[in-house]
Formats: sequence, structure tokens, C-alpha cells
Amino acid sequence: MESIIKGKPVADKISENLIKEVEELKAKGINPKLSIVRVGAKGGDLAYERGALKRCEKIGIITEVKEFPESITQEEYINELKKLNEDSSTHGILCFRPLPKHLSEEQIKYVISPEKDVDCFSPVNAAKVMEGDKSGYPPCTPTAVVEILKHYDVELSGKKVAVLGRSMVVGKPAAMLLLNENATVTICHSRTKDLATVTSEADVLVAAVGRARMVKENFVKEGAVVIDVGINVDEDGKLCGDVDTDAVKDKVSMITPVPAGVGSVTTSVLAKHIVKACKMQNNA
Ligand code: NDP
Repeated sequence: MESIIKGKPVADKISENLIKEVEELKAKGINPKLSIVRVGAKGGDLAYERGALKRCEKIGIITEVKEFPESITQEEYINELKKLNEDSSTHGILCFRPLPKHLSEEQIKYVISPEKDVDCFSPVNAAKVMEGDKSGYPPCTPTAVVEILKHYDVELSGKKVAVLGRSMVVGKPAAMLLLNENATVTICHSRTKDLATVTSEADVLVAAVGRARMVKENFVKEGAVVIDVGINVDEDGKLCGDVDTDAVKDKVSMITPVPAGVGSVTTSVLAKHIVKACKMQNNA
């Protein structure tokens, strides 16, 4: 019964539109640019960075990577970030998080310019997600979730949506973005009682728990749409999502795969945010 809904067509559609927008900007002498700020060289950061650089290149967005050693001090990091805030050739800044423990995210998140903060590090952008203010930059992954649902014409208004996970990176903002689409949203987490009963009432289930194949057949409603945000490595070293796809596939109507699902849309959303930031900063 299931239909696998891949991320690539969604990412390609977003990219196609952006290529045109970037061409128009370049014709006016405006060159959109992303600056990535990375401390150390964690595997996950490098994998995401490669994807982001490739996506930006395809769209025509200039990129630079500011790589710093783990020994960077709080003051040095803040100074580097302030330089990027002030550099008018940079329109979007992506700071890889979590930062090493000796750097205070609580302080640094107030330093990044909200106008250049393309992945919702700044509390100003987090507040805009809460307010449903579309002038800001919600985090790329939950935005990718909404883009996928819209691309595949999944009705959200008035529908029951369960979001499994309440992190500031995925779960909470995903819930707010879906609420902004007029869904009736339930947020589930590690203390939720009778979890499977709650999630199995949902028309749309978004899984962002970080637990390999935790979502089984009894977690989903017949005909539900399932968006699997999880990126996990199972005991055999295989990449998998939070949903046990084999176990639920005969029950759901649509499900995103892992890999090739949400992850592939995230970098397109990042590019969309950079172009939007560039336009706003140039009144273009
Ligand atoms: P976090 O670890 O920050 O949050 C996990 C959430 O899941 C928490 O809210 C936690 O609840 C909840 N949770 C954990 N275990 C259970 C359980 N047994 N039952 C119910 N709830 C549970 O993870 P992230 O939000 O950062 O990421 C979630 C997943 O998404 C990960 O697999 C991550 O790799 C992936 N990811 C994918 C991206 C993409 O582009 N596709 C980008 C970012 C993340 P509580 O708050 O109570 O502890």
C-alpha cells in the first residue's frame, strides 16, 4: 500500500526556482554568498558541509568555509562571527552546532546577526517561528518536512499531526511550522504515556527521536503519512531512520525513506534561505 516519497524531486524543484532567482540577482551585480563556520572536523558536520557546498555550487551561490581548531576561544569565535556579520559580501551564516563544550551557545546565539542566520541559531528567528512570522529563518530540517508534505499535496489544515521529538533543532520548530499550516499538533517525547496510542491517532506522523527503527506498526494509523527525520546507524552499521519502514509499509499511505528523504531536501532549504537573505539585504 505504501508509496515511498523521495526527497530528490522536492529538492530539485526548489533548486530549479533558485537557479533562476540567482541568475536574476547576478544580472544586477549581486552575488549571494554563504559562510560556514565550523569548529573541528566531526563526520556529521563534514557530510552536511559537502552536501551544502554541492547544492550551493549547483545553484550558483558562492561559499566559504571558516574552519577553526577545537582550541578556539569564546572571544575568538565571537570576533570571527562579528566579522561575518559586518561583511556585506556574506548574506548567510551557518554555524555548525553543537559547539564544543567550552564555547557557550547561550551567549553566541545572541551574536549572530538574525538577518544572516539561515538555520535559526538566533533566538530572534526562533521567536519568529513561534509567532508564525515568515520574515525569519526557521531551521532547515523542519522546513524541509513541511516542503515535502506540500510537494506531495498532503493536506495539513485541520489534520491531526503527531511530532515525535521536542528538540529545538527539529521537533519543536516542526510542530510550530505545522501548527502554522493549521494542523492540530501533538508533540510527543520521552515522557509521553502510551506513546503508540497517541501517535496512532495521527493523520501525519513526523518522527524525530534519533532511535533506530523505533516506530513500529502499532505507532501508525492506517493510511497515515509518515515523515522520517531520523538519521541513525543500526547495530550492523547500516544507515536507517526512526521508523521501521518494513514493519509499517503495508499500513501507511506515504513514507519518506532514509537515506534519500528529508536529508536531501534540507540543503535546498538552506539555499532558499541564503537567497532570501541576500535579497532582503540588498532590497532586491
Ligand atoms: P535529540 O536527541 O535532540 O532529540 C530527540 C527527541 O526525541 C527528544 O525530544 C526526546 O525526548 C525524544 N525521545 C528520545 N527517545 C524517545 C523515546 N524512546 N520515546 C519518545 N521520545 C523519545 O535529536 P534531534 O532532534 O537533534 O534529532 C532527531 C533525529 O533527527 C536524529 O536521528 C537526528 O540524527 C535526525 N536529524 C536529521 C536531520 C536531517 O536533515 N534529516 C537534521 C537533524 C537531525 P526528551 O525531550 O523527553 O528527551
